[in-house]
Amino acid sequence: MKGIKTAATPEMTHGSAVHEQLETIFKQDATPASFEQAVEESKKTASMSREVFVIAPEYGIRGYIDEIRMKPEEIVIIDDKPGRTPYPSSMNQVRAYALAYKSMTNEDRIIKSALRERGTDNLFWIEQFTPEVEKEIEFTINRMQGLIDGSRPFIPTKNPNKCRSCRYSRYCEHYKKD
Ligand code: SF4
Repeated sequence: MKGIKTAATPEMTHGSAVHEQLETIFKQDATPASFEQAVEESKKTASMSREVFVIAPEYGIRGYIDEIRMKPEEIVIIDDKPGRTPYPSSMNQVRAYALAYKSMTNEDRIIKSALRERGTDNLFWIEQFTPEVEKEIEFTINRMQGLIDGSRPFIPTKNPNKCRSCRYSRYCEHYKKD
């Protein structure tokens, strides 16, 4: 928002390297297909797609989904995370992907959002994308859009642990040293 650039953290660099490794392994057996083809085919035969680009301009969402497991009866949208803690920001990220996916496909299958421990098959958090969840994430996204366009104020965290590891602390007027 303020155009401040900071260096990537070691966790980010490691995460990108793991992503690339998984991508290379996946491509060895993968069949190229368009997004629409993959969605349509999966209504008959289960499949998996990685690094799926989704965009929903009406919500201001744009991103790459780490993996989508498409089965005839359900869609599971997965984001890889270091560790096994389902932070609200991680849950909301993958909920926003589910919202974008739904808006692009008019999907009538069950959609689930999930977080997976990076480098494993451990889905440590999974949730069905119900109408209630959809409403909540729409509300959250609207609030974020309000922050971006300046119509709502930012509220700094009260958690000093977050500030301690924040990459923007030296630019932040709310940062207090212990
Ligand atoms: S230092 Fe500022 S930007 Fe970073 S977490 Fe704390 S309040 Fe938020």
